[in-house]
Amino acid sequence: EKAQIGVTGLAVMGRNLARNFARHGHTVALHNRSYGRTKELVEEFGHEGKFIPSESAADFVASLERPRRVVIMVKAGGPTDAVIDEFAPLLEPGDMLIDAGNAHYLDTRRREAALKEKGLHFVGAGVSGGEEGALHGPSIMPGGPKESYDALGPLLEDIAAKVDGEPCCVHVGPDGAGHFVKMVHNGIEYADMQLIAEAYDLLRQVGGSSPAEIAGIFQGWNEGRLGSYLIEITAEVLKQVDASTGKPFVDIVLDQAEQKGTGRWTVQAALDLGVPVSGIAESVFARALSGGADVRKAAADAALPGPSPENKHAGDLQADVEQALFASKIVAYAQGFQQIQAASKEYGWAIDPGAMAKIWRAGCIIRAKFLDFIKQAYDKQPELATLLVDEYFLDAVSGAQDAWRRVVATAAQQGIPAPGFASALAYYDGLRAKRLPAALIQGQRDFFGAHTYHRIDKPGSFHTLWAAEGRPEVDA
Ligand code: NDP
Repeated sequence: EKAQIGVTGLAVMGRNLARNFARHGHTVALHNRSYGRTKELVEEFGHEGKFIPSESAADFVASLERPRRVVIMVKAGGPTDAVIDEFAPLLEPGDMLIDAGNAHYLDTRRREAALKEKGLHFVGAGVSGGEEGALHGPSIMPGGPKESYDALGPLLEDIAAKVDGEPCCVHVGPDGAGHFVKMVHNGIEYADMQLIAEAYDLLRQVGGSSPAEIAGIFQGWNEGRLGSYLIEITAEVLKQVDASTGKPFVDIVLDQAEQKGTGRWTVQAALDLGVPVSGIAESVFARALSGGADVRKAAADAALPGPSPENKHAGDLQADVEQALFASKIVAYAQGFQQIQAASKEYGWAIDPGAMAKIWRAGCIIRAKFLDFIKQAYDKQPELATLLVDEYFLDAVSGAQDAWRRVVATAAQQGIPAPGFASALAYYDGLRAKRLPAALIQGQRDFFGAHTYHRIDKPGSFHTLWAAEGRPEVDA
């Protein structure tokens, strides 16, 4: 008997994906650069289903039914290219190479184009949900050629997370679309985490609540409109007590957040597309600030002055923070979805944003009740310019805005950094503004660089002959 699908790269993610396929009744071919991992998988989990282990790439390929489906789950970057180079010569036209790692979407575009010339289908598939998701049902975002989805989709849908029986897996779009959407998913995840962290910080510093009390608040919120995996696990983390010191776990952890890069990629791509994803950018920068130990030490040594601590919050802090968190979250998602739409247009991917919200409802890290409303918004209006003008979100934000402003004001007055809340509010006010000071910037650009400007009252480009005095000698 031949295998329906093969997995090469059997570290935590690949191993669990392979087990997930096997548990769903598929025969799974196994391969890993070093054979030890392959052997280990069969020894430990061989009883879970039908596996065909191979030591060589050639045997692995020979053990697969045609068209072959080879899932690559190795370290992103160079290792993925190495594996592709090893397998491509062994495959035949119509076979599929599925990169389920966290590849950069531009790498995926490059790889897809190169393999297409050999008649091979290359599918860049985003997989979210971590180790547990890979085993019990991840959210899967496959890109690549549509034809390949016909042969591959049913297998992926089998192992994906389900909501009311519907799989969290859909063909996202051609070439790099799947990895792009996975990247933005991770960017949104950064924003969600930062906003939750700011909410915790305000409840603790302004409200004086203990981590255990805040865990209770989050548990309460998890029952409401903020209900989500990240809120749920935040409550668990806050409840945790360090065994060796008896202190709250959050108080014994170094306050320097690390990152692997998908948040940064999201912001870099957004800069290139010209889409303001300030919520995601602030979260990436907040992690960078937290990790900037030298600069923080210099600031501490210089004792940078803060405000006098008398100011109290002018409202019900807990209720206000919930509103600020929800409104800021809406902004972050609105920006992320706008980025997906912009890329979809730029690359001709024809991504259905509602379908993305749908497949993020389970399996992935940002899974939340909230995504149902995003799906509904795009079902109603696929061309929605921003989620903020959808009825549900507009109502939510208008209901939240007074509280949101109070929270941002309190943070500023008390000197507590809340870049996520503050920048989300600034973005919202920027969208609302009837006139932006961008007009003045146009004047400045025309002054020093003769960059010209457009008028509100007549068409065409204009340049003003500015007074010579005060003009720089060289264009800035
Ligand atoms: P790692 O990223 O730690 O990669 C280890 C695997 O890559 C091993 O199988 C290793 O083989 C193989 N490998 C490394 N270099 C090479 C090479 N030059 N040639 C062939 N194989 C190589 O494994 P993870 O399981 O953590 O992640 C796999 C992929 O999934 C990554 O792209 C990651 O970004 C992505 N991902 C991870 C998630 C997670 O929660 N960990 C979540 C979602 C996606 P060997 O055993 O021989 O060393």
